[in-house]
Amino acid sequence: MKTTELFKNKKVLSFEIFPPKRTSSVDTIYSTLEELKDLKPDFISVTYGAGGSENCNTTIEIASAIKHKYGVESVAHLPSINLSKEEVLLNLEKFKENGIENILALRGDINPEITPKDDFKHASDLITFIKANGNFNIIGACYPEGHTENKDLDKDIENLKIKVDAGAEHLVTQLFFDNNYFYNFQDKIKKTGINVPVEAGIMPVTNKKQIEKMATLCGVQLPKKFIKMMEKYEHNALAMRDAGIAYAVDQIVDLVSQGVDGIHLYTMNNPYIAKRIYEATHNIINA
Ligand code: FAD
Repeated sequence: MKTTELFKNKKVLSFEIFPPKRTSSVDTIYSTLEELKDLKPDFISVTYGAGGSENCNTTIEIASAIKHKYGVESVAHLPSINLSKEEVLLNLEKFKENGIENILALRGDINPEITPKDDFKHASDLITFIKANGNFNIIGACYPEGHTENKDLDKDIENLKIKVDAGAEHLVTQLFFDNNYFYNFQDKIKKTGINVPVEAGIMPVTNKKQIEKMATLCGVQLPKKFIKMMEKYEHNALAMRDAGIAYAVDQIVDLVSQGVDGIHLYTMNNPYIAKRIYEATHNIINA
């Protein structure tokens, strides 16, 4: 099923997972999926490291298992900055062979140690190429606080419009911890004429250092109450976990109350946390 269809009838709840590190076995993800599938997400997306081609097969293998073994719709991420047209075509062929219909088409982060290939400068170039080479449903990434390379939000949204006009039929946001950025972004994209569904990306915090690193990398603001929470519980893992879950639930309740199209939960491959958030919010999301 094409994920865009889901938004016609309901608020969407989706999960994101990442393939295990190369050194560990891919089997470790299957026990995670066994638990995530019981939460009946509308789809599960699988990331793909832009740094090298070796884990693309793992992304495809996992996305295929999500769909065929666990009976949940899947989305494969595809960052293109380090891929040639021929390599993208090979990926598209593998997606077709594995019945994968949905692609999160990305440019990918620029790695200073790898010279980017010239074929796909922007995600919109990849989207145009995918559209010309198959009948896929294409999803795009978006940034409520602006992309790190383009902190001028209005300019970033102009570029997002190019991506949507190229064929992105649904958008998923970067994580954020202050819903006001999301509402401001939503107002601005509507004025620009972007009318595709937008899922809000929510990441539950479990670890202060990890989230500070992530926030810097992604260029997102940490609100004062969030910083206070991390400072208070940083040395108590269980309290930090529970506070992080409560914060994510609070964000979700507010987003759903204000009419968000869907919630994309960055699960960090942690089914326990996904389950706690699901239990606290599924009646609210489905109300
Ligand atoms: P683009 O849409 O190309 O935007 C990148 C920058 O270029 C922006 O500053 C934009 O304003 C500018 N730009 C875009 N189009 C134009 C244009 N036509 N002219 C001029 N400037 C333009 N990375 C991975 O490697 N693997 C993953 O699996 C992955 N999953 C992700 C999932 C989500 C939900 C999100 C939000 C991000 C994910 N990323 C992933 C990170 C992503 O690859 C980076 O944020 C990357 O830096 C930008 O990718 P993009 O597709 O948004 O790029």
